[in-house]
Order: sequence, then C-alpha cells, then structure tokens
Amino acid sequence: MDVQNDFFTGPLKLKAVTKVIEPLQRLVVAARLNQVPIIYGVDAHYPQDAEVTWKWGTHAIKGTKGAEVIRELEPDIAKDYVVEKRTYSAFYETGLDSLLRSLYKSDGAKTVVLGGLHTQLCIRHTAADAFFRGYKIVVCRDGVEVFAQMDQEEGLKYLGHVYNAKVMMVNEVIREIVK
Ligand code: ZN
Repeated sequence: MDVQNDFFTGPLKLKAVTKVIEPLQRLVVAARLNQVPIIYGVDAHYPQDAEVTWKWGTHAIKGTKGAEVIRELEPDIAKDYVVEKRTYSAFYETGLDSLLRSLYKSDGAKTVVLGGLHTQLCIRHTAADAFFRGYKIVVCRDGVEVFAQMDQEEGLKYLGHVYNAKVMMVNEVIREIVK
C-alpha cells in the first residue's frame, strides 16, 4: 500500500518510514518466485479529492512523480498489478475485489497480506474492507509503518482485535508462501 515517492521523500515523508523498504523487498521477491500475486494499492489523487483538500494537502496526484512507486519496490509490470485509489481503502471504488476473485484461475484469493503505509490509515481501511468482503488478513509487522504521532503497537492491536488480522513478521509470511 502507498509505497510511493510522496510518502518517502515528498511532502508526507515520515522519519521512521524507510524501515519498511527492506522487508517489503524480501516479501515481493519471495512472492514473485512463488507465483503469489502482488498488488500495489496506490494513491492516484485528483486535486479535488477530499483527502487532499480537507486533510493532508497535495500528495500523490495521479500522473506525477510523487505518485510513482518508489524505485526500491518497483512493480514488475509483466507480473504485478497496480490498483489506483482515491482514498484510504484500496477496495473503495476500485476493481480490487473482482481482481482478487479472479486470481488463482478464478478460485480467488482467500487471504490478503498487507504491507506498506500507513498502519492506522490505508492499511486499516483496506483491512476493514477486506474483512467486510470475507478475506482473511495478515499484516506484516515489519512491513508497515505509522504516520507521525500514531502508535504502531496500538494500530496493530486494533487490526488484530477488530478484523482478526494475524500480525506476522515478513520472514514468517515468506515461510508460509514457500510451503
Ligand atoms: Zn492519499
């Protein structure tokens, strides 16, 4: 989720945020090697979006450099999917649900593994929508980060408590993927 320039080096840059890059790199490499589909949920805002005008200011405007995925986690365009969204949840008014249901020869994905930014914002709202639609949820403890002044542990606890999300280290997720 939201592994885009504006959240790493742009206007909404966070101090602790670069910690997630290395674990997420390991995760995407393992996923690609094991035919686990990778979906990038990315902000692609219009300037008039509520998030932009009411809340966070200009960020990740569709088509700009700031909205591009960071170089370190560049999607493999031959294999990965990119789902553009205009607010926190990657399910909201996007094709994500039908995409998930079409995967694995139309058997559909049963579990979503969430990583990226931010634990209490896009991860949380995407987890909510995944829960509402009957997906099991895994959140990568070392693959998500919080926005300034928010508490990571509290955010993870909420995901576990409310959406039954399993909080795992990326290494543990990789072990499951390889099985
Ligand atoms: Zn946004």
